[in-house]
Amino acid sequence: MRAVIMNSDGKVAVETVPDPQLPGPDGAVIKVDAAAICGSDLHFYDGDMPSVDGLSIGHEAVGTVVEVGPAVTGITVGDRVMVSCIAACGNCPGCRAGDPATCDHGSTIFGFGAGLGGAQAELLAVPVAQSTLMKLPDSIDDEAALLLTDNLVTGWTAARRGEVSPGQSVLVLGLGAVGLCAVRSALALGAARVFVYDPVAGRRARGAAFGGIAVGDDGADPVAAVLEATGGRGADVVIDAVATDRSLDSAFGAVRTGGTVSVVGVHDLNPYPLPILIGVYRSITLRMSMAAVQSSWREVVPLIAAGKLDTTGVFTHRMPLDQAPEAYELVAARTADCTKVVLTG
Ligand SMILES: [Zn+2]
Ligand SMILES: [Zn+2]
Repeated sequence: MRAVIMNSDGKVAVETVPDPQLPGPDGAVIKVDAAAICGSDLHFYDGDMPSVDGLSIGHEAVGTVVEVGPAVTGITVGDRVMVSCIAACGNCPGCRAGDPATCDHGSTIFGFGAGLGGAQAELLAVPVAQSTLMKLPDSIDDEAALLLTDNLVTGWTAARRGEVSPGQSVLVLGLGAVGLCAVRSALALGAARVFVYDPVAGRRARGAAFGGIAVGDDGADPVAAVLEATGGRGADVVIDAVATDRSLDSAFGAVRTGGTVSVVGVHDLNPYPLPILIGVYRSITLRMSMAAVQSSWREVVPLIAAGKLDTTGVFTHRMPLDQAPEAYELVAARTADCTKVVLTG
């Protein structure tokens, strides 16, 4: 089969590799109908995180089941499915609660070089199919499903773990796909005002089109703008969908005393100097989360199906799998024009 391969120098190529095998009796193999490039894939591309040579990359896929193990029930060959970006045991308290990142036995992300293949490929082997896969209702199209494999459930988790409540003010830092999904999630949970900031003007404009209130235009300080708009208090909840030292500084600067900073961005490997003393004095709650995939599916899939959560407008490009090198170049430029790319065929 063909697969997108990332090398240690960040070079991307489409190569022919062996077909994946059924990963045990509880696993499945799917034919990938569409895969997406995620901001976290760029950490390998940009060299923030070490990659091995020949890494089969990608963790966002929807597809059709072509093989199932004998122990799998509820998923059959021919089913249209989406794949949780995180795989885990499926059976411990954390997994049963729908939060595979908290698995007692450890969790693994597809395409991160930790034993699971990459989703940007023609076929994908999926362990513990019963919990890692979800059969898709017709009301969820491929683009919505791709967002549900990671970015939308990450944005939803950010808002839920931030405990966004009706009437509150929220600031979302970083308006890539996760940030945009966090804006809609916060609004769906009843936030009265969602301030949005990204250093790229066009991305702030997109955040405003998604229902946010753009801050930091014309080079203004986004923290000062949020403080001013909230009468000096700060936002009840700050969602950091970037997690650089700079965005974390902004999050702690813009959150109100007693408020919550909810981090879902992927920081690089260097430690961040956490302002503990200020955080303690101001009773700041800090939450750091991976997507609670299956518990979010239970909440978000019905909202999408009922037309109460919009999933359109996040994907900006659709390209064939063979053009993955060009697609990575586009996404890595982080312009206003390219938020997210679907790879098909
Ligand atoms: Zn992702
Ligand atoms: Zn588990």
